[in-house]
Amino acid sequence: MKKGRFGIYGGQYIPETLMNAVIELEQAYEKFKNDENFNSELEKLFNEYAGRPSRLYFAKKMTEDLGGAKIYLKRDDLNHTGSHKINNVLGQALLAKKMGKTRLIAETGAGQHGVATATAAALLKMDCVIFMGEEDTKRQALNVYRMKLLGAEVIPVKNGTATLKDAVSETFREWTRRISDTHYCLGSVMGPHPFPTIVRDFQSVISKEIKSQILEIEKRLPDYVIACVGGGSNAIGSFWNFIDDKEVKLIGCEAAGRGIETFETAATISTGRQGIFHGMKSYFCQDEFGGIAPVYSISAGLDYPGIGPEHAYLHDIGRAEYFPITDAEAVDAFEYLSKTEGIIPAIESAHAVAYAKKISPTLEKNKIVVITISGRGDKDCASVAKYRGVDLDL
Ligand SMILES: *Cc1c(COP(=O)(O)O)cnc(C)c1O
Repeated sequence: MKKGRFGIYGGQYIPETLMNAVIELEQAYEKFKNDENFNSELEKLFNEYAGRPSRLYFAKKMTEDLGGAKIYLKRDDLNHTGSHKINNVLGQALLAKKMGKTRLIAETGAGQHGVATATAAALLKMDCVIFMGEEDTKRQALNVYRMKLLGAEVIPVKNGTATLKDAVSETFREWTRRISDTHYCLGSVMGPHPFPTIVRDFQSVISKEIKSQILEIEKRLPDYVIACVGGGSNAIGSFWNFIDDKEVKLIGCEAAGRGIETFETAATISTGRQGIFHGMKSYFCQDEFGGIAPVYSISAGLDYPGIGPEHAYLHDIGRAEYFPITDAEAVDAFEYLSKTEGIIPAIESAHAVAYAKKISPTLEKNKIVVITISGRGDKDCASVAKYRGVDLDL
């Protein structure tokens, strides 16, 4: 496959002014990715700071209740800062530091990636600026406070719909303005090459651990690995070390919002078309004129109009399958996992739980399903309560 391409997807659709920055990043990554010191430093951060390896937990009660396949939960919700985002952020921040950069910039939607980036910047003594849609800064005031507490500057973005996609565009603009001391710590497997590859490699620790953990417990590979998909970083991280194991089914769960037949959806594979945006060729939710469509999901982390190019490719070749999950199904699964296992999942991860809830009862008892719990759900309690008509007044 051509460098930076996944089939026809991926690439570097960027202005000339950004070319030097991505070339510098690519060269640095090529140099450090197999560097023993770099990898042992990163592993130390993963283990001692982020709390890896995360547990692979046998969900006994859920398994008994659904009466089919054995269900395991990959507990990336137990990581420091509460989600898988820290895997990517620690990797990129360490790489940036090796490159001599002193400043991290990043986009954030709900604030999870911004908080993770601000955390890594504090740890590694780097300056940090987070771009966040103005709408999102209002909806997520607590995360804005957290980022500031961690020492980051938060800049509200007023362009466009003043949400995540506008924050991404603005962060690229800032990177163009100031490349010499600044690294753009992108939050998912998207954007121009080399980001989809770098982020995937740092997140692939998830499937590396799942594989060795399940082999130890069950002495065989799982039948299904299920993860939610926004840009697709926790999903590709969960899939990566199983891609050559053809007997393992790989399932991505997209946010259908109010349903894929409505305009209030963020299900890119189900409703999108091929296009080019944010530096990459992939599938995107588009309006009738090919413009990027406004998207909607109860889950802010899945509320992005595109999907990482490697997922577009895995979809086209049939190696992974992608299914839409509605707000209603995700909220049910959020409540279900809380009551059944005493684990409150992120509303994003609840999309994966919802799909597992549908298929597990149809599978034989000797089948094995692994669900990646990409984050914890404390942050979502107010919005789920609101969905159920309760105002928590937080
Ligand atoms: C950000 C986020 C996601 C979506 O991002 P991906 O790149 O698709 O993984 C999913 N779950 C949680 C908990 C998140 O914070």
